[in-house]
Amino acid sequence: MNRIGIDVGGTFIKGGIIDDKGNVLFSTKVQTFNDDEKISVVDNLYNLINYLIKKNKSISDTFLSFIGLGIPGIVNRKKGLAEFSGNLSWNNVPIIGLLKDKGITIPMKICNDSRSACIGEMMFGAGMQYKSAIVMTIGTGIGAGIVINGKLFEGNGDKGGEVGHTLLMMNGELCTCGRHGCFEAYASAKALIRYTKEEMLYNKNSLMWSHVYGNIENVDGTLAFTCAKLNDKSANKVINKYVKYLSEGILNICNCFRPEAIIIGGGISETGDFLFKKINEYIAKRDYGYKCTPKVNVIQAKLGNSAGMIGAAFMNEFLEDGENG
Ligand SMILES: [Zn+2]
Repeated sequence: MNRIGIDVGGTFIKGGIIDDKGNVLFSTKVQTFNDDEKISVVDNLYNLINYLIKKNKSISDTFLSFIGLGIPGIVNRKKGLAEFSGNLSWNNVPIIGLLKDKGITIPMKICNDSRSACIGEMMFGAGMQYKSAIVMTIGTGIGAGIVINGKLFEGNGDKGGEVGHTLLMMNGELCTCGRHGCFEAYASAKALIRYTKEEMLYNKNSLMWSHVYGNIENVDGTLAFTCAKLNDKSANKVINKYVKYLSEGILNICNCFRPEAIIIGGGISETGDFLFKKINEYIAKRDYGYKCTPKVNVIQAKLGNSAGMIGAAFMNEFLEDGENG
């Protein structure tokens, strides 16, 4: 049996046909929002799913058994309801019900997109060898899926596991959640961009300026890594600052859950060994009771941009309950 996995993002909706071994047989993406406001995000989702159903018939003689959707924001899995999504401007959208009303008859489920990425990595990616691991996706914010003894920890009403909104700095930077000093406000890609810009304004001779053609608005989450690898002093300063905040947050997670591994995905993780070596060195020196507690491996995610889509396609196997559509 094949499955459809959908990863709904603020810019694109990615969708794929996945076989029962987690292989992506076909994938495509559509824009989340249309220029024509009469066509809603749900219409785009429906059209994409319909397209994938037809595509499955043309590329495979295997039936589709399931459709899983990873949605950003707060999701009520049991009711198939997207309770709140800032990126999509959704408030209490009964997404499964709406897709059923439009005529989709294949069983469907939704979950939060960080969790679908976590399921993908645990079942088919960097987490395959672990029973207890935390998959963190670092982008504009920090999302996470916490797996303990092979089971996703969800908290009351599926609302737990928000490691991005644990405190790193009292009275610190304002976070999107309204508090000050959250881990996310110090270790997201957005925070790294902020440190990069601050350092560039402080040191106009940094190599980083030439890499953005003198325009600070071109700074992204990879610039400081690129220039640090070229031994630019300012860029190294930025990376060391970023690694410090990221690693301190990781230490909090290690001390709370003591997982076997912390798996990091998202654009920043693609800088690879350069970043992971620094994090692992930092935590090895500071981890609470490190000499008498099991080591936590901080490693790079394996499935890249496909993790959310692949994990979404298997959420019905990994998660225990939730309503079939
Ligand atoms: Zn927060």
